[in-house]
Amino acid sequence: MATTQFTRKTLGGDPTEPALTPPPPTPQTAFVRKPKISSGRSRKREIPEGLWTKCPKCETMVFDKELDENIKVCPKCQYHFPIGARERIHSLVETCSFEEMDTDMTSVDVLGFKGVATYTSKLAAYQKATNLKDAVVTGFGRIGPHSVALGVMDFGFLGGSMGSVVGEKITRLIERATARQRPLVIISTSGGARMYEGMFSLMQMAKTAAALAYHAQARLPYISVLTHPTTAGVMASYASLGDLILAEPGAMIGFAGPRVIKDTTQAELPPGFQTAEFLLDHGLIDAIVPRKEMKTRLIEYLDYLTAGMRNGELAAKA
Ligand SMILES: [Zn+2]
Repeated sequence: MATTQFTRKTLGGDPTEPALTPPPPTPQTAFVRKPKISSGRSRKREIPEGLWTKCPKCETMVFDKELDENIKVCPKCQYHFPIGARERIHSLVETCSFEEMDTDMTSVDVLGFKGVATYTSKLAAYQKATNLKDAVVTGFGRIGPHSVALGVMDFGFLGGSMGSVVGEKITRLIERATARQRPLVIISTSGGARMYEGMFSLMQMAKTAAALAYHAQARLPYISVLTHPTTAGVMASYASLGDLILAEPGAMIGFAGPRVIKDTTQAELPPGFQTAEFLLDHGLIDAIVPRKEMKTRLIEYLDYLTAGMRNGELAAKA
């Protein structure tokens, strides 16, 4: 038996012998048919997964550890990879200064939404995968010397969509910032309103905008940071209402997607349409700030914006 197999092996690749499929691997045949080199190669192919990430812009393979140390920015071409809410907060606030609010607030399936998957099952899956309850983390923390109300969205949770929890958490953050006389910083990334909650998602736009009006009335500064991508309902509410609007380089920012706009207007869109750089040129954004400079620049801006209060109410309440 073994002899015939050896004979067949030497004839391997002969098209007239279609029955030459490998026999079940007994230790002996495995040794003959699968030289060590090939098994070594396949193992090598498996190693990069989870250790290296290919940069979509410059196509360099970046070591994941290096990417993490560089707050998810490609060290070669400065491409900004998506970053989770907690990781971003960690990159901005002083160690141990962040106090999270409304940690257990979770969405309810008010519409009894059933599609390919139910809303309840989607929520459970994303909560497990991201270790977040919903698409935003809010709280108070210190950025440099400034105690601020900070809200950070996470695109990894259902595309950073705004449902009633995101809206409520942002609104509570703004209201508490007003009550405590604190500047507000919200870092947005979102695909828009959450379709699973229908009208309840859309209501959040008015709610957050109204809370911001009270915050502004109290003469407190609000810095909105737009990251890739910030679109639709979020862009059309609190994200575009900052006293100062910053954006990360290359971020896609807009209301409707480019294809929808093109189909509706029947016009060619200008090059670079809906990028942070285009919107800076057209006056919607005040500055483009690379992620690595975000903390220092936020401190600088907060210095300016709170200058009038430093010796007054803010200092007294700090
Ligand atoms: Zn790159």
